[in-house]
Amino acid sequence: MEATERRTAIEPREIKQQGDAGLRIHWADNHVSRYSAAGLRRACPCAQCVNEWTGQRVLKPETISQELTITDLSIVGRYALNFRWSDGHETGIYSFRYLRELGEQDEIREEQ
Ligand SMILES: [Zn+2]
Repeated sequence: MEATERRTAIEPREIKQQGDAGLRIHWADNHVSRYSAAGLRRACPCAQCVNEWTGQRVLKPETISQELTITDLSIVGRYALNFRWSDGHETGIYSFRYLRELGEQDEIREEQ
């Protein structure tokens, strides 16, 4: 509808933890993405979880508990998020672009 929206950079307007195991990002262009902690953890892009040379995922999804929680999160520069998980892992840097891609599946458009 609004032609200006597509030009907005991929950046979060609001990042909100939902309980211990959920995350909600309200993007600058008004899209809203919701994530589960376990789902995000399984998609960790760091060198321990993905083979840097082949791009192959080393992390086995079944080793991540569904009860995993986010113990801390911080913004890296102006482009990414870093999570600290309840399993102690904290090396993943999730760019906003990557998070936006991960959130595309169950993206919900909020009425203003
Ligand atoms: Zn990782």
